[in-house]
Amino acid sequence: MQLSRRDALTAALAAGGVLLAGCGPEAPVSAPAPSGSPAPSPSPPAAPSAPPLPAEVVHGPRDRRQVALTFHGQGEDSLVRAALSTLADLHAPVTVFAVGAWLDGSPQWAKKILDGGHELGNHTYSHLDLASMAGTGQYAEIHRCAETLRRLTGTRGRWFRPSQTPRSTASIEAQARKAGYPTCLAYDVDTLDYTDPGAAAIVANALAGVQPGSILSLHFGHAGTVEALPELVRGLRDRGLEPVTASALLA
Ligand SMILES: [Zn+2]
Repeated sequence: MQLSRRDALTAALAAGGVLLAGCGPEAPVSAPAPSGSPAPSPSPPAAPSAPPLPAEVVHGPRDRRQVALTFHGQGEDSLVRAALSTLADLHAPVTVFAVGAWLDGSPQWAKKILDGGHELGNHTYSHLDLASMAGTGQYAEIHRCAETLRRLTGTRGRWFRPSQTPRSTASIEAQARKAGYPTCLAYDVDTLDYTDPGAAAIVANALAGVQPGSILSLHFGHAGTVEALPELVRGLRDRGLEPVTASALLA
């Protein structure tokens, strides 16, 4: 399996010449200060015979006609409802990286996302600029979202994606591992949907960069993203690429 970091860097540079903040301009969610020293969580059991994944995955196997649509999980109810309804119509399972504070405020979405055949991951509790934080703060953000996920779904989920940075750092990877996430999930195709460029541009950005095994970055909470989904999924399927969850892509 080729899991090159260079590909995502290339995509980001092609997109704008700079490494964009990646997962959306959404303001951080205010949250009470974490209390006390968080205790390390046990690591989840590894898949029985699968080779271990690296600390950060940018894309899946390039020889597989599948891609993963991954969503920043936070947004107004009406837009989340519209996105899930559209994905159901399209029979397209996705991976939703939930912001913990959003899920605490709108806990109904946890079950609805899973019941829709989608997958839930951890996108920190407050969506802060994780790369600029110290390790203890990073851990608190990851752990608190993991606890929200566990309380609402019974599991912390398999994947973690850092907030406000397209790529993990060594410190983020270490803290994610400590919180029970051995692999951080990045992406190699940034649709830039969070800049609200319009549905046509979102589709064009996605299809221009996509390859077999790609992981695409998308966001709940943006009307243009919902509007783009039917054409985006149609375009993928026209290229013989089927959307699957991140776990299916990386199985
Ligand atoms: Zn995000």
